[in-house]
Amino acid sequence: MTPVELYHLELRDIGCIACLMQLGKPSWPVAIHHLFDPSQRDDWLVVALCEPGHHQHGKAGIIPFHPGGERRFRNTYGFGEVEMLKRSIEEVMKVQFFQRALFHGG
Ligand SMILES: [Zn+2]
Ligand SMILES: [Zn+2]
Repeated sequence: MTPVELYHLELRDIGCIACLMQLGKPSWPVAIHHLFDPSQRDDWLVVALCEPGHHQHGKAGIIPFHPGGERRFRNTYGFGEVEMLKRSIEEVMKVQFFQRALFHGG
C-alpha cells in the first residue's frame, strides 16, 4: 500500500469532515472528494465527505457539494474546500499525535 493510499484510509476512518464541521460529529460512509480545480487534481488534495450526503445526492438536512460546487457549498455552510482541508489535516495530525504519545509513553 502506498503512502497516499494509507492517507485515504486515515481520512475514511476520520469520517465526513463537513459533518464534523457542520454538526459537530463525523458520519459514514464516505467518498474521497478531490479538491479545487480539475487542473489541480491530486490524490493528496482530498477530503472525505459522506456519500450520500455532503459529497453527492444529499440527505436530510444536507445539501451536497456536487453538482452545486464550491460557491453553493460555501453559501450554505459558511465554509468551503480550503477550510475543510485545514480541518482534515488537523484531524489526521490529532490521530498521529495520539499514536505517537502511545508509542512513546506520553
Ligand atoms: Zn457529511
Ligand atoms: Zn467530489
